[in-house]
Amino acid sequence: MNINARIEIIRGDITRLDVEAIVNAANTSLLGGGGVDGAIHRAAGPELLAECRTLKGCPTGEARITRGYNLPAKHVIHTVEPVWLGGRKNEDILLANCYRNSLELASRNRINSIAFPAISCGAYRFPLERAIRIAAREAQEFLKFHDFPQRIIFACLDDKTYQEYLKAI
Ligand code: ADP
Repeated sequence: MNINARIEIIRGDITRLDVEAIVNAANTSLLGGGGVDGAIHRAAGPELLAECRTLKGCPTGEARITRGYNLPAKHVIHTVEPVWLGGRKNEDILLANCYRNSLELASRNRINSIAFPAISCGAYRFPLERAIRIAAREAQEFLKFHDFPQRIIFACLDDKTYQEYLKAI
């Protein structure tokens, strides 16, 4: 099967998606923040924060799984995104790790569908085109060798991000 047939690019709010897991672009504390992180915690409700507290943080590039509580998604996979510091601080590798480790967790939990936001592309200022190319490459590579997740969805809040995904995939 064509790998790209298992990838969807959609416009919209990731917290509204009826998928098995959504990915949260979190910080090392895993205790919430602004942007997509804040939106996910607001939509999931306070039980999500309570479960996150038990995890005692997470290093950049790694991922942890929790339940989704009030979200339509059954699970949240929290990955700690790198801050863009000019490109010489392993940002590319750390961002690729975010995608790979999130997909690895999804695969191990036999999750069918997983949605990603554009990790690091907001307040963390990763150059958009560069970040999206990494996301697309990691998704395609992973799908080649894994049956789960069956579907990867890239959720884009704005048109510019949406257009970058269309170019990359
Ligand atoms: P960063 O990941 O750099 O810390 P943000 O969390 O602000 O910054 O944003 C990451 C990406 O997620 C940005 O492209 C932003 O537009 C997008 N985003 C923010 N809120 C949502 C949401 N509710 N659904 C989908 N994407 C979102």
